[in-house]
Amino acid sequence: MSAPRRPLVAGNWKMHKTAGEAREFCTALAVLVGAEPPVDVAVCPPFTALEASVDALADTSIAVCAQNVHEAASGAHTGEVSAPMLLAAGVDGALVGHSERRAAGDTDAQVALRVRAGIDAGLTVVLCCGESLDIRRAGDTQRFVTRQVESALADVHAADLPRLVIAYEPIWAIGTGETATPEQAQEACAIVRSVASERVDGASLRILYGGSVNPGNAAELMACPDVDGALVGGASLDPESFARIVAAAG
Ligand code: PEP
Repeated sequence: MSAPRRPLVAGNWKMHKTAGEAREFCTALAVLVGAEPPVDVAVCPPFTALEASVDALADTSIAVCAQNVHEAASGAHTGEVSAPMLLAAGVDGALVGHSERRAAGDTDAQVALRVRAGIDAGLTVVLCCGESLDIRRAGDTQRFVTRQVESALADVHAADLPRLVIAYEPIWAIGTGETATPEQAQEACAIVRSVASERVDGASLRILYGGSVNPGNAAELMACPDVDGALVGGASLDPESFARIVAAAG
């Protein structure tokens, strides 16, 4: 039998917070969530605030993830950061394939390579997927999300499960204040689980919902049977708001 899935609440800061602001935030968050939160908690600061966050959270159970990672270990890739570099900086994981990165040019092929590179280096990869409003309106959500997950996990194997999390984030709900209904979140996360089950033990895989999660809607979204936590953008920038979402997952 598969072990119960421990929820994860991760905060994606996007391009917000300096190293000093990150240190202040992390110190406050650690107090708010306490020494033994009932769920896993992670923050995803921008690259320049990673080390300050790692340092401020050193004696806590809160993980630190980057917002992206390059597929190569090193080389002529100006502006990029590799998985071994993140690991050496004390970072625990990385988002891969966030829709804002895909909009900036990250391709499906790169996403698959980055998933592999992150896992190989020992990072926990939070693979992001999700459809646009046009795709949803066209009734194409299932086909689109299936193709995205299949492509990203093309080189993932059963043994990779402990280092893999998937976040379903409909693009139309990211930063818009328009949240998926619990039914929509459940339906899509169930599809993701079923597709991912071709590669790993789906019953043990953690799948998060992301898209305008806030302290008011977090509990009902995370109560869905296939939703194992949340990837939170805007509402993760304030420690109190983020801690309330963490509490809603417990
Ligand atoms: C995100 O950036 O991953 C996200 C879900 O943002 P928001 O919560 O602001 O919609």
